Amino acid sequence: MSSFEDFNLKKQLNYAIEDLRFEKPTPIQEQAFSVVMSGKDIVGIAQTGTGKTMAYMLPLLQELTFSKQIHPRILVMVPTRELVLQVVENIESFAKYINVRVLGVYGGTNINTQKQLCAQGTDILVATPGRLYDLALSKAVKLKEIKKLVIDEVDVMLDLGFRFQLINIFELLPNKRQNIMFSATMTSDVEALIDDFFIAPEKVSIAVSGTPLENISQECYAVPNFYTKVNLLTRLLKDKDTYKKALVFVSNKRSADVVFEAVEEFFGGESCVIHSNKTQNYRMRSIRQFDEGKNRILVTTDVMARGLDLDKITHVINFDTPNYPENYMHRIGRTGRAEHKGNSILFYTEKEEPFKEAIEDLMNYEIPALTIPSNVEISEELRPEERPRILEADNPDQTTLASQGSFHEKKEKNKKVNQGGSYQRIIAKKYKKPKTKGDKNYNKRNNKK
Ligand code: AMP
Repeated sequence: MSSFEDFNLKKQLNYAIEDLRFEKPTPIQEQAFSVVMSGKDIVGIAQTGTGKTMAYMLPLLQELTFSKQIHPRILVMVPTRELVLQVVENIESFAKYINVRVLGVYGGTNINTQKQLCAQGTDILVATPGRLYDLALSKAVKLKEIKKLVIDEVDVMLDLGFRFQLINIFELLPNKRQNIMFSATMTSDVEALIDDFFIAPEKVSIAVSGTPLENISQECYAVPNFYTKVNLLTRLLKDKDTYKKALVFVSNKRSADVVFEAVEEFFGGESCVIHSNKTQNYRMRSIRQFDEGKNRILVTTDVMARGLDLDKITHVINFDTPNYPENYMHRIGRTGRAEHKGNSILFYTEKEEPFKEAIEDLMNYEIPALTIPSNVEISEELRPEERPRILEADNPDQTTLASQGSFHEKKEKNKKVNQGGSYQRIIAKKYKKPKTKGDKNYNKRNNKK
């Protein structure tokens, strides 16, 4: 193998592939094609960026016949609205020359508009589980004609707590159907779902979690604390020729906002942010601006970034070290796609070092370490969560104040006292303002002193 000719596709699909300028099938496409065509249940283990959408869609489109019926025959379930839009767009590009109707439905928008769209009829329905269930309950969508069920990003889906909704939906589907499932990682939750609902599925897997992606260069920095990470990040990003399109990962939305504000202060207008507290419109705008190159920096959390189809990312910067090594694999998989060379940089504190080691164990690869450039200021300021626990006899809030254990002793090189008009002092001062409950308590405590 391998060439698209080996698939014996109908000519309309070949024309679309030519238009897309895809030269050959990706490994997951090569492996999944015959299994999906055979009608057997299939579990594909593949990360975003491997071409998995086409891996299941191409054989399904190959088989799909023209119909005018109202109710969908193919159901694709995905965890997020962003992914609905992306999958719909993908299918439309593959099915450009086929007379096929594709509809995407997702929560957070007017359900009545979607009911009307459903009433017009569709062949392929792409949906998030919650909205799909509501539409099915209100009889706007009937699922009894579904022949093919695709569940994409199952791991994320279960992570977001959709198991119950998936099971409800399974009950509305006909028993006789083909199940096609894709997941980036195999977790015990995913295994359980397969055991309960799939019939002797064939497993196809290309990137066993733990295989480092070969065209990604990886590096790491040991960094003493959050604000030094901010200083290092902004220092690196100054090199605009190198950091042309950088995806900055942080583990939670609060840090995402802080990091974004910091980056924005240095590179006003060059950066954007997405996380689950941002509105749908805000997120879509951020993604578009980054994708089109208007902004070269995108700060994101793990869940938000999954499933995004972002091209030509030059750098993935892991502002913090993921607690689950698989998440690191997901993150770095966003760069080095489609034959481009990618780069990943990991920042880790002493507290995060065990997580870094777990990642290295999983990959069986030691990430080359770099030393922080001497012109990066080492901050003395600590975030509330980095501060050592201070016990206050009369403070009922103290458990919420407590850091997650004592912060590590500074290394000799980090004991430098920084007195200049440094950026981290400005930002630390700024964050003394009670912005959140945590910070408010932190101020209370400081004022008591
Ligand atoms: P996915 O993993 O489905 O999100 O796909 C990742 C990206 O790879 C998308 O931008 C696809 O358009 C692209 N892609 C899919 N199949 C191929 C292929 N055979 N050759 C080159 N690019 C592809």
